[in-house]
Amino acid sequence: MTELIYQVDAYQNVCDARVVDLDSDNRGIALDRTVFYPGGGGQPHDTGTFTCGEQVFVVNRVKKTGDNAFHYVFGDETLPAVGDPIHCSIDWERRFQLMRTHTALHVLCGVVFRDYGALVTGGDMEPLKGRMDFEFETMQKELVEEIEAAVNLEIGRSHQVRVEILPRAQAFQIPDLIRTKINLLPEGIQEVRVVEIVGLDLQADGGTHVNNTSEIGRIRVTDYKSKGKINKRLYIEVGPAG
Ligand SMILES: [Zn+2]
Repeated sequence: MTELIYQVDAYQNVCDARVVDLDSDNRGIALDRTVFYPGGGGQPHDTGTFTCGEQVFVVNRVKKTGDNAFHYVFGDETLPAVGDPIHCSIDWERRFQLMRTHTALHVLCGVVFRDYGALVTGGDMEPLKGRMDFEFETMQKELVEEIEAAVNLEIGRSHQVRVEILPRAQAFQIPDLIRTKINLLPEGIQEVRVVEIVGLDLQADGGTHVNNTSEIGRIRVTDYKSKGKINKRLYIEVGPAG
């Protein structure tokens, strides 16, 4: 079982680990612990490197399979063996951009729900760009500037971002979580990771976020699209940090 360090510390960008399993056909390496985000919830996986003795492997894909996170590496050099030590290092610039983008999308969710009562139905992101889908019948062009200004105002308010892992029963008691479809969580999941932008947004979420909204930088709402009468898609871009 891979210990997922990013779940408790999104800022740790290196770690020492050991190989616990191999997927030799696909050049996949599972570790006992990792700082690599394996992807999910709209946030892409991390990239980076593995150092094993003199050898350096480039990790180009990460995927969680069962309880293990498999890291897929380029090249044709012999893979490390089960038990070998690995020094992991993620591409921090890319990851931090994703953390800022991911947190910006939470601010957008919080603002759109607070000001218009619209619920989010999905989202996707790449570094410094993202989109979110809402059940937002009243969305129209005139609201773009208003939403952008409200999001930037909240970013500038330096809200703390708090991450907690709660027992399932306790998480299900939180009224704000019910609206984010927490009830769709599979029965087998006994713990729920909760990400709160204090005073603005609360979601069950497995991704990586910054510690304070002030780290995001300013955002722009670049476009929106109707995906039917009710469903609207908003696009954002994240500007320079600080
Ligand atoms: Zn999130």
